[in-house]
Amino acid sequence: DEIKNTLASLGDDYFKERAQDVDFVGTRVLRNLLGHATEIVDAAGGPCIIIADVLSPTDTTHMVDAPVMGFATEVGTRTSHTAIMAQALGIPAVVGVESLAERVSTGDTVIVDGLLGVIVIRPDAATIAEYRERAARHAESEKSLLAMRDEPARTLDNVDLTLLANIEFPAEAAMALDYGAMGVGLYRTEFLYLDRKTPPSEEEQYRIYRTVVEAMSPRPIIVRTFDLGADKLAPGQENLHEANPALGLRAVRLGLKNRGMFKAQLRALLRAAKVGPLKIMVPMISGVGELRQVKALLEEARKELGSEAAERVPLGCMIELPSAVFVADMLAREVDFFSIGTNDLIQYAMAIDRGNDHVAYLYTPFHPGVLRAIYTVLQAAEAAGIDVAMCGNMAAEALLVPVLLGMGLRTFSMAPTSIPAAKAMIRKISVSESVSLAQEVLNIPTATEVEDRVRRHLLGKLGPDFNG
Ligand code: PEP
Ligand code: MG
Repeated sequence: DEIKNTLASLGDDYFKERAQDVDFVGTRVLRNLLGHATEIVDAAGGPCIIIADVLSPTDTTHMVDAPVMGFATEVGTRTSHTAIMAQALGIPAVVGVESLAERVSTGDTVIVDGLLGVIVIRPDAATIAEYRERAARHAESEKSLLAMRDEPARTLDNVDLTLLANIEFPAEAAMALDYGAMGVGLYRTEFLYLDRKTPPSEEEQYRIYRTVVEAMSPRPIIVRTFDLGADKLAPGQENLHEANPALGLRAVRLGLKNRGMFKAQLRALLRAAKVGPLKIMVPMISGVGELRQVKALLEEARKELGSEAAERVPLGCMIELPSAVFVADMLAREVDFFSIGTNDLIQYAMAIDRGNDHVAYLYTPFHPGVLRAIYTVLQAAEAAGIDVAMCGNMAAEALLVPVLLGMGLRTFSMAPTSIPAAKAMIRKISVSESVSLAQEVLNIPTATEVEDRVRRHLLGKLGPDFNG
């Protein structure tokens, strides 16, 4: 840190950049000394809880099939990809805990309460007993929610909604079905590219996408082209040194720069679409120009493949940049569907790094600016007659279901484990009442007041049943 600070204080751009290099190398050396998640799991030799300053999404992929009972980190927020992965893997996790590492030692007993976001270090016997009982109660309520798997997501006034699953790994397709998903609304394919030296080949990808199409058939799957960059680095991208990676070479921008890698994925998708209803979705689209470049590349891939490609593959884009919201009416004329990525939309609309716990208090889906942005997109989609879904974490925010419904949203995509609770909520509310609530909320000036208003609405509707 001392060398880094000295270099940074010299006031020369060259040395400032070298300060970042020192920081990067230092972090690397430290990480190697501390060991990656897999090595930590191996060292523990059995079921364990991982406590770390930071875990990347790649580290988290090492926890698949590992006996990790939970993890906690100093860095991160609920919408950081590491937290999203924890939910996908069903691992209790708490992120963004200040000075955690210095308060816990190897061998300590730790409780990770992922529901409340609480860590209990060296709990006494009574606390352990209380938590065992809570865990059992939670498992019971999960079971009763699962019993609703085959019930429709129907409102009190008989409007049927579509609940889709967000998945990160092919194996999650089975889990999506278990939790009652009607399809996959977001398959985050970038996880196929992490932690390896070269990108997956077209053939390898084709086989994987095919497995997911077959597992979900006849339900549709929406495959998102790789959203690499920022916190999920592509093979070879580690040396890029971007000062603001979230505003950098990410997602579709990276694809249009590395056209070979992007086309290999598009070819694999066009081929897999022959097997069943697969749709292609492009992340981080900023406007029509960029979208047209993707369409041209897709056309090129289709021509090369000839009869190996499916004839008509719906193409959609994510709406997660403010610029895309502003031109949603024009984008809607170019695609078959939209999916609103609120995790990034909130980050970019409000200038809050979604993984930065120092400003996480400002990161809220209740902000009137966020709600109005979403309303703009829903109206643009409706006017153009295209499908629109929401696949960011906001789609699973129980308090906002009536507001989203009232603004016109009918398709929600979320982690499989969130589906039963969303369905239970939908079955207790009506569209007609939600419309007036949404119109009222769109004119409330602060996030706190919006949240209070929707909480009061739901308490009034659901009474003691409502515990959100
Ligand atoms: C989003 O940004 O809301 C989204 C669904 O994509 P990701 O979380 O993978 O960035
Ligand atoms: Mg996103």
